[in-house]
Amino acid sequence: MMTKGHLICSTALAAVLLILGIEPLYILLVIWASLAIDIDHALNYIFIFKRYNIIEILNYFKRKVVLKNSTAPLPVFIFHNYETLLILAVLSWFFPFVTYILAGIIFHMVLDWCVLPAHRYPPVIKLSLILVLIENRRRRKGYYKW
Ligand SMILES: [Zn+2]
Repeated sequence: MMTKGHLICSTALAAVLLILGIEPLYILLVIWASLAIDIDHALNYIFIFKRYNIIEILNYFKRKVVLKNSTAPLPVFIFHNYETLLILAVLSWFFPFVTYILAGIIFHMVLDWCVLPAHRYPPVIKLSLILVLIENRRRRKGYYKW
């Protein structure tokens, strides 16, 4: 899902949380996390292209990228995965405010998973960092070349 979609959905979520009586500071934390998680798209772009122009980064992700049936390495999103969720879940045990960050990221990822098939991305790219790294290693070794 693009940033505009996340912004609209996060605003709706903020309204619901406000109605439920959640403190505004915690609501801001949920919304911040649900929007900030996408910074890993920019980090992926910078890692691949070694370029830091914010306009180029935004334009790159506005384009539809078809990855299905491709043998090119998958994009690596360091925050869009269950490993990050597990780390945050453990941290929230010790630091309760992290629960709100976790909630924001889960909200974001559920929205992403809803639109993932439409973008024709393999679901694994926003599911598991470990599986993406294993898959990319296989692709780099020419596993799919016959
Ligand atoms: Zn996302």
